[in-house]
Amino acid sequence: MEHPLFDTLPHSAQTYLKALHAEYSFSFQEQRQIVETASDILQWKMGPLERWFDEAATSNLQGRKRTKTLVSNLLKRVNEERKSPTVYTDFFPSERLPDKYQSVIRHTEKIMGRCPCPVEGEKTRCCNLKTLDAVEQCAFGCSYCSIQSFYNKSEIQVVGNLQERLQAIKLDDDTWHIGTGQSSDSLLWGNDYGTLDALATLARRYPKTIIELKTKSHRTDWLAMDLPPNIVATWSLNAPTIIEKEEHLSATLSQRLTAARQAADKGIPVGFHLHPMVYFEGWQDEYSSVIEEVTTTFKAEEVVMFSIGTLTFTKTVLRTLRSQIRESRILDMELTAAAGKYSYPLPTKQKMFAHAYSCFPKEWKHEGPFFYLCMEDPSLWEPTFGYSYPDDRSFEAAMKKAYQSKVEFLDRRKHL
Ligand code: SF4
Repeated sequence: MEHPLFDTLPHSAQTYLKALHAEYSFSFQEQRQIVETASDILQWKMGPLERWFDEAATSNLQGRKRTKTLVSNLLKRVNEERKSPTVYTDFFPSERLPDKYQSVIRHTEKIMGRCPCPVEGEKTRCCNLKTLDAVEQCAFGCSYCSIQSFYNKSEIQVVGNLQERLQAIKLDDDTWHIGTGQSSDSLLWGNDYGTLDALATLARRYPKTIIELKTKSHRTDWLAMDLPPNIVATWSLNAPTIIEKEEHLSATLSQRLTAARQAADKGIPVGFHLHPMVYFEGWQDEYSSVIEEVTTTFKAEEVVMFSIGTLTFTKTVLRTLRSQIRESRILDMELTAAAGKYSYPLPTKQKMFAHAYSCFPKEWKHEGPFFYLCMEDPSLWEPTFGYSYPDDRSFEAAMKKAYQSKVEFLDRRKHL
């Protein structure tokens, strides 16, 4: 069958689909739909494919009519599966082995970039985050991760002479917050490569600029360092089911929160990202518990930011995830086109985001972290938070004010 994904399917699936094609002569478009669907079903471990093609139901039809009905019945069944919350109770993926075995020092001119929100128009509410790629590629194995597909799969690339470069770099005037977790995990290697020393140098040169580290690790040896107050450490959080089944090799929820607690005890500003929320069976209860753990482990005034977001894929990333034929149920979801990418339909996102925010106690909403939706449609703000920003500029201004005043408050408190 003609589709680049066809050769990535297991031999038994190829044989079955070839036999079907010989009988039904699928059109080019039908072949594409069938191969992509088959690839998803096998990744979800919901095979064999024979279960999904109901040939008996079309036995009273002939020719093209039979072929079309067979394909549309298949797509209908798969769409029903996608629409319902993903079931994980019968899904036990093989443990993913670490496959990034080599770290290399890389020399590159360009280390600064911007967040992946679309530049033109306002299809997503964007905070104008600048990014700094000190390390490229990650040793964790999250099954939804686009970083895994961007870079050489077996190499962790570390920027050489980062210290000298950050000593000399001149930041643009509109750079007031920089994220380092867009091309890797910011804390998985601690300060092994001198990355944190280099970032501390930059943070001291620009004391009004917030430098955000983002991690799914539980490493804490870096807490012994004397970091400037404008370095904020953040942890990505998720429901335990998603961490266990889809965020391979990463720290458990309680390990992440314990590490974050230790950081906060050291006076380091902390933040959290509930990202990506996944629509799975039991999501309400598990996400409620995640937020309960956060709000009982931390005081509202200790946390700088709390973002909420979900799965969003570009076409390229979808293609790569499918071609990997990994065991994952992450693509068992409705893939609705949104701002040039694919994500859950807006009503599903609204339900998840509003639920997450509703789990926070009142004082968190008033004196707590700066809440925001990460790279999301502006129409989702009002139903989630009860307020919204008219444009990106006002969102960015509110975020800047909140971050800077929280960081100053925590620094004053640390020196009392
Ligand atoms: S921790 Fe982040 S960078 Fe690493 S695999 Fe997971 S999503 Fe990708």
